[in-house]
Amino acid sequence: MDNDVHAGLIAQFNRCAALNRRCIAYGQKALDEKRLREARLFRAIARSATIQGAHLLTAASGIGTTDQNLSRELGEARTVLLDVLPEEINRAKASGSTPASVALEHAHAAALSTAELLEEALAAPSGSGRGELYVCSICGFLVQGEAPDVCPSCGVNKQLLPAVE
Ligand SMILES: [Zn+2]
Repeated sequence: MDNDVHAGLIAQFNRCAALNRRCIAYGQKALDEKRLREARLFRAIARSATIQGAHLLTAASGIGTTDQNLSRELGEARTVLLDVLPEEINRAKASGSTPASVALEHAHAAALSTAELLEEALAAPSGSGRGELYVCSICGFLVQGEAPDVCPSCGVNKQLLPAVE
């Protein structure tokens, strides 16, 4: 495939991915404001973006075997952990923005837990009984095995760490 065409597919995929996440957040905000029609509109846009994103990623040959996909995401997580977030966290702290620092530190913890789980998945075959997976509803930290009493990253009660089906 022509490099420019591939880059265009990936760029549009990235736009769809961001659109999806924005519209999910906007839909929740609309729900909080009891704007049910707008909440539904945002959910519809988010769903459309998910569908478009899958087509774009497929067209860009961006979906490999499961082992290839695990390896790719592990690489992404390591890049975020080692090359991206430390600098961003330092910049946020230097600026004095607590919300930015907290959001970035939560992202760092979530990326660390993500990388650990990806490493484990690559090292051991599926079906070896790794236990439940939990994701913190507040900070996005992932936990495998027994649910902890509190989130290891942000400290909320385990009731806010639902298991993933
Ligand atoms: Zn948490």
